[in-house]
Amino acid sequence: MNNEKYQVVIGLEVHAQLLTKSKLFCGDSTTFGAAANTHISAISLAHPGTLPVLNKEVIALAVKLGLALNCTIASQNYFARKNYFYPDLPKGFQTSQHTDPICVGGFLIVDSNGQKKEIQLNRIHIEEDAGKSMHDLYADFTAIDLNRAGTPLLEIVTEPCIHSAEEAFNYITDLRKIVRWLGVCDGNMEEGSMRCDANISVRLQGDTKLGTRVEVKNLNSIRNVKKAIELETERLIKIVEAGETIVQETRSYNADNNSTFSLRSKEDADDYRYFPEPDLTPIQISEEYKAAILSTMPILPSVQEKILIEKYNLSVYDANAICTEKENVHYFENLIPLTKNSKASANWITGPIRNHCNEKNIAFTAFPIKINTVADLINFTNTGKVHFNIASTKLMQAMLIENNKSAVELAASLNLLQEDNDDAINEWVEKTILAMPDKVKEYKAGKKGLIGLFAGQVKKLSNGKADMGKVNAILEKKLME
Ligand code: ADP
Ligand code: MG
Repeated sequence: MNNEKYQVVIGLEVHAQLLTKSKLFCGDSTTFGAAANTHISAISLAHPGTLPVLNKEVIALAVKLGLALNCTIASQNYFARKNYFYPDLPKGFQTSQHTDPICVGGFLIVDSNGQKKEIQLNRIHIEEDAGKSMHDLYADFTAIDLNRAGTPLLEIVTEPCIHSAEEAFNYITDLRKIVRWLGVCDGNMEEGSMRCDANISVRLQGDTKLGTRVEVKNLNSIRNVKKAIELETERLIKIVEAGETIVQETRSYNADNNSTFSLRSKEDADDYRYFPEPDLTPIQISEEYKAAILSTMPILPSVQEKILIEKYNLSVYDANAICTEKENVHYFENLIPLTKNSKASANWITGPIRNHCNEKNIAFTAFPIKINTVADLINFTNTGKVHFNIASTKLMQAMLIENNKSAVELAASLNLLQEDNDDAINEWVEKTILAMPDKVKEYKAGKKGLIGLFAGQVKKLSNGKADMGKVNAILEKKLME
């Protein structure tokens, strides 16, 4: 929502669970979905006397993301203890970073109303996750699963510089694309491996002082981030308009009835009694280390899009659709030499193939029809012997079931070949003309636009098989007879 009188101000905190095999300070597995409390060594349980050992891979992933997001990588950074009590936090403190995070500043360029906008980052810091409390599993007590305790996270924090729900939506979409692209995080918000807290305030247009903010916690989909912001913007403006005071508070979003509700007020800043972690040495990051990480990084999606547009003459839309995942780019580039037709390959990838993969929730690389056979299907469709609409639905469906048969073979046996036989087309055209005498009169009187209606009818009669080039020519001739 955009209000002319007010400006909404949003800062986002995104927690991304890192794709490491083991936890931040011990060898326990980070696999999702294991039986409760099976990945819990003495370290995860915080037994007295245990000491943390830093997982180096975490540093590599943090630096990778920091470089991709144009941050300054701190040559020296520290862990800190964030002290608080909660039953799913065995140590009684969370090992995090406070005054000296690993990545400082940075930005991500996103689309904002058709323009490019730099979303400024404040920092990226490393921290460990807590365990999971399940309050509704049993009637009388809370269950705790500590498998997640000690899992490495990166917290990516923006400046309060986002000014619409749309911008926030685009930022998270692009950020998720990048973390996936780099193999930093799987970006799966529904499973909680990427979570977002949205801080929202409003102020009069032109004001420079920030308004009092509310924080909506643990939004578990990009759509919910957008919806929560829209709701809060509206709610906050109403409060201000009514002359009331906004209280700083933490809220939660309920997707079932699209509303937010208060969890707790946050009048005073929490006192976490931060202090430097005495059991871990400072992290030193050299120029050589940064260069080594940089050399392992893939081309970033925004650059890859430009390359596809220039090299294969793709539209921005197609390039963007292909660059949703790095694997899709490989798939596209493997398909090109087989079809020698970049436009058709892009159409198939961003259309029927992507639809199928999305529906089945699989990567392109797992598309069941072998890439050579897909190329045959594309090439065959390009000959014009079968209509694209038929090829991408009925024929592709048949090939998914009988994936060792060729497109040519199946199209013939299923009677899907385009009909370019003049006799057959003449017959459909005549039937159509006879069935619509009034429309024919109108056409003859000058309403030439009706040709589309007749053509559509012929297409329907032929079950989509008629060669439409011929249909139009024959229609034009016959309609004037
Ligand atoms: P905390 O750690 O208590 O949540 P931070 O100062 O680290 O507080 O800010 C967290 C997020 O809130 C950042 O993304 C920041 O940009 C954003 N933020 C801070 N103040 C405001 C405000 N008045 N309106 C909107 N966002 C804000
Ligand atoms: Mg916060």
